[in-house]
Amino acid sequence: MQEFTLEIISPHYVYTAHLASRQEVLDYEVALRVMLSLTRVQTEPKTGDYCKHCPGLLICPAIAKEAALKAEHPSDLKLENAGKLLARLERLEKYIRECREYYKLIIAKDPLAVPGWKLIEKQMRLLKNPMKIRDAVLPMIGDKAFWDSVTVSITKLEAAIENASKPFLIDDPAKPTKEILTPFVTVRVQEASLVKEKK
Ligand code: SF4
Repeated sequence: MQEFTLEIISPHYVYTAHLASRQEVLDYEVALRVMLSLTRVQTEPKTGDYCKHCPGLLICPAIAKEAALKAEHPSDLKLENAGKLLARLERLEKYIRECREYYKLIIAKDPLAVPGWKLIEKQMRLLKNPMKIRDAVLPMIGDKAFWDSVTVSITKLEAAIENASKPFLIDDPAKPTKEILTPFVTVRVQEASLVKEKK
C-alpha cells in the first residue's frame, strides 16, 4: 500500500479529504508515538472550570475521584479553601446532571432497565389564544381574579415598549423603558444564589 485517503466525516463540518503518501504516514506514526510517550509521563487530567464544557466529563478519572467526596462539614474547612470546594461542587453538579440524562435515555429505551426507577413525563399546558380566553373569562371572573391568574413577563413587556411604533404610548420618548414601568413594578428580593466572580 503506497497511499491512504484520510477523511473526517462530520455531521457539522465539511473537511477536505487528504491523500497521504506512505512516507507521510510513517513520519506521522513516529510523531504520534512521541506524543503518546509524553502523555504517559503526565498524570491524570487536571480539573478546572473548563470541565463544565467538557464532553468527556462522564468518563473522566479526575472527576470520578472528585465525586468520591469526603464527608466533611463545611465549617471544618478553612474559608480560604471554600472557593475550591464550591468550584468542585459545580463540576459535580454537572456530573450528576449528565448521569441523570444517561439513565433517562436508558430507561426511555427500556422502562425496566433500572429497578425501582421510572420516567414520568411532565406536562405543561399553554394557552392557545390568550385574547379569546380573556374575552371569554373576564366577564365571568372579573378584572382582579383574571389579572391575579395571569403572569406578565416584565422583560417581554419592556421589549414590546422598546419596539412600540406608537410614540404616544410613552409620555417622554427619551425616558428609558425600565423607568416607564418602574411605578407599576414591585421588586421582591429572592433567595440569593452563589455565583462565581468573573476575573
Ligand atoms: S472533565 Fe476531565 S477531561 Fe474533561 S476537562 Fe475536566 S479534567 Fe479534563
